[in-house]
Amino acid sequence: MLLAIAVILPTVCLLWFMSQAVKNERLAARQKLVDVYHQRTEELISSLDQIWTDYATNIETEISSREPIELFTYLVPHLLRTNKLGPYGFCQSAVIYDSDGTLLYPIVQIELGDISGPKGEFESAWQMEFVEKNFARALTIYEEIADAAEDNYRWRKAVIGQVRCLRALGDLPKARSLCHDAAYERRPNVSQQASIRLMADARVLLTEMYRDTGDYSHLINLIVTATGYNRRSGPAFIPMDSNTRIFLLRKSIEYFQQSKLAEEYKYRISSAKWWLAAEEFAAGAAMRYPSTDSFRYWTTASFHRLDMEGDVYGFYHKTSEKQVLLLGHAEDVSNSLGPTLNRVQTSDVSCRVVDNTGAFVTGLRQPVAKAFLAVPMGKSFPGWKVELYFNDAGVFEKAASKQVTVYMWAGILVIVLILAAGGFAAQAVGKQIRLNRLKNDFIATVSHELKTPLASMRVLVDTLLEGNYKDQKQAIEYLQLTAKENERLSRLIDNFLTFSRMERNKQAFAIVKTSPVEIARAAAEAVKTKFSHGRCEFEVEINEDLPDVLADHDAMVTVLINLLDNAYKYSYDDKHIKLRVFSEDNSVCFCVSDNGMGLSRRATKKIFKRFYQVDRSLSRHVEGCGLGLSIAKFIVDAHRGTISAESKPGEGSTFTVKLPVGNQASKGYK
Ligand code: ADP
Repeated sequence: MLLAIAVILPTVCLLWFMSQAVKNERLAARQKLVDVYHQRTEELISSLDQIWTDYATNIETEISSREPIELFTYLVPHLLRTNKLGPYGFCQSAVIYDSDGTLLYPIVQIELGDISGPKGEFESAWQMEFVEKNFARALTIYEEIADAAEDNYRWRKAVIGQVRCLRALGDLPKARSLCHDAAYERRPNVSQQASIRLMADARVLLTEMYRDTGDYSHLINLIVTATGYNRRSGPAFIPMDSNTRIFLLRKSIEYFQQSKLAEEYKYRISSAKWWLAAEEFAAGAAMRYPSTDSFRYWTTASFHRLDMEGDVYGFYHKTSEKQVLLLGHAEDVSNSLGPTLNRVQTSDVSCRVVDNTGAFVTGLRQPVAKAFLAVPMGKSFPGWKVELYFNDAGVFEKAASKQVTVYMWAGILVIVLILAAGGFAAQAVGKQIRLNRLKNDFIATVSHELKTPLASMRVLVDTLLEGNYKDQKQAIEYLQLTAKENERLSRLIDNFLTFSRMERNKQAFAIVKTSPVEIARAAAEAVKTKFSHGRCEFEVEINEDLPDVLADHDAMVTVLINLLDNAYKYSYDDKHIKLRVFSEDNSVCFCVSDNGMGLSRRATKKIFKRFYQVDRSLSRHVEGCGLGLSIAKFIVDAHRGTISAESKPGEGSTFTVKLPVGNQASKGYK
């Protein structure tokens, strides 16, 4: 028990330590990797901060100095002209406010300017033109209004009326020439948005009238107007509001696509499409954020998700003069962040960026595991996070596996050593215990078995010495009894000595070719006198032509005497004992049978063990110390033979010793 504890306890402790060590190794590997990536992410974030702060500084002077409409072209064409990486890749459109937060661009609410004039002055013209279809009369009225008009708006409106009437009357050359005037003459300023709209309409009308002539100069002028944001772009430039510009862009794209110039001007068309998208984007954002009220707490040069349909982001920047909100979609953020993020991403690690609302922006779309690191993205991205994921969930295992293998093998080795040491110790202790038990049994049996004959001898000798006998005959009888006890004592001591030698493995046998007949005769002779007493029938049946066996004659005689002695001892008064010797299957068999008390099946299995006795009570009437059969088995085993017992309680027993015949047995001894 103690030994088992001594083995199990350290093994369990070792296993526990091993599992702790393995766990710690994994944690250490994880911490190491996390530290490395933390460092890299910090570098990434400071470089992101640097990039966007630099960008904000770069555009600062332009923001302050430019007119809103020009500023729009400055901010947005960065996207069109430079490559789409880095900060310049982000801006798809822009909304511009003044320092108080009032919207400057796109122009969504227009000032119609001074459009006053005599009441109903156009009504009679429209009556003629649209109701009575009297285009000549309508033309005259429009001419009169135009001549009299001092303000830009009324003049242009009247001229456009004349153009319509001339077209209806079929005077196309004059209509075109007047339309040209309405489209390019008497340029309105930015405050006269109503007139600007008419000017834009006139340019569309002019393009339409030249459509079938093969003269595309007006079509080209139209697209130049639509994409012209700069005063310096000459007569094509008109400072129009957002809706008018969107209208012109759409019209010019449509007319170009229908014209023969579609192929030649395809880059121009696609650029117009970009502008259209930028304008529509800006118009949408300006509707949602007509002033900076809803983001007045945003820090300058910072990114935010906008409250608009789709994944829309804004980069907010403020100077002393203006405030701008640069607009882009999630993929634009992704494009501009991409090269920087790639510095952290490896084959083992993927990045994921989430915005201030926790929504996915770029990187790994659907992570399967939890992020091992989530770091705030710095002041340019308030509330945003970079999350890092391992591509392979078992990466810590791999990092730790080498060390873990060393631990495992060391652990297994130590466990094997402990078990081996435990095994050896158990064997040694077991042997010691068995020896002790044997010694105790031996002492108990020897003292008991020696005491009985010694005591009876002492009584007999004392009786003789004291002269307490009737006559000479009785004295002789006492002496005979003493001799018998003496003989019994000698036999016992012989057995003890044989056993003792056996224990020390010192029993050396003189094995030679021997006749089994002689062995059997010698044994029968030895017990004859004893068996002649009382009612004992002793039968000996020996086949004369038996082959020789390789045996120690005396030892085999001892075996048979022990068996015969037992047959005598364990039989009742009417004894019938038989010794048979015969050959069978290359063996010689010695069979001793009796009609005695027999043995149970359980006892039959145990009787060849040392000191085993069926009846161990001190009151049993037969002598013996439980060694006879074990000695017999030892001797027979040394002869490469077998010994067995067949018995039934109350029906007697048969003990059979089988020895291989001479030439067979000799093989075993060579
Ligand atoms: P012991 O000295 O006690 O006779 P043995 O080794 O010769 O020791 O025998 C062991 C036990 O086997 C005996 O105690 C006895 O109970 C049983 N035994 C041996 N031979 C016979 C037999 N012929 N019939 C019944 N029991 C036997």
